[in-house]
Amino acid sequence: MARTVSIYDADPDFRKDPKTNDWCWRCQKDLKPGQARRHVRIVAGGMELAHPADMEAFDNTPGDCGCFPVGADCARKMKKLLGDDFTFDLIA
Ligand SMILES: [Zn+2]
Repeated sequence: MARTVSIYDADPDFRKDPKTNDWCWRCQKDLKPGQARRHVRIVAGGMELAHPADMEAFDNTPGDCGCFPVGADCARKMKKLLGDDFTFDLIA
């Protein structure tokens, strides 16, 4: 079984309005160019986070929303909240 968690377990805050096209998925704060970041894979139509080890299971599935950047601080907080690291480095 591919592991997922509800996005709400990561305690996201979607109230902010990003001013640029480069923002943190979890807090919606804009990321500065070159700012340290991780990524998350959003699946199930935006409702779940896929575990990095199981991401291939979601390729070409309905509801796969793709990868989004997360700031380094939020990545740390998510790891604490979820008890596992659901963020990853995107290899360019
Ligand atoms: Zn953030």
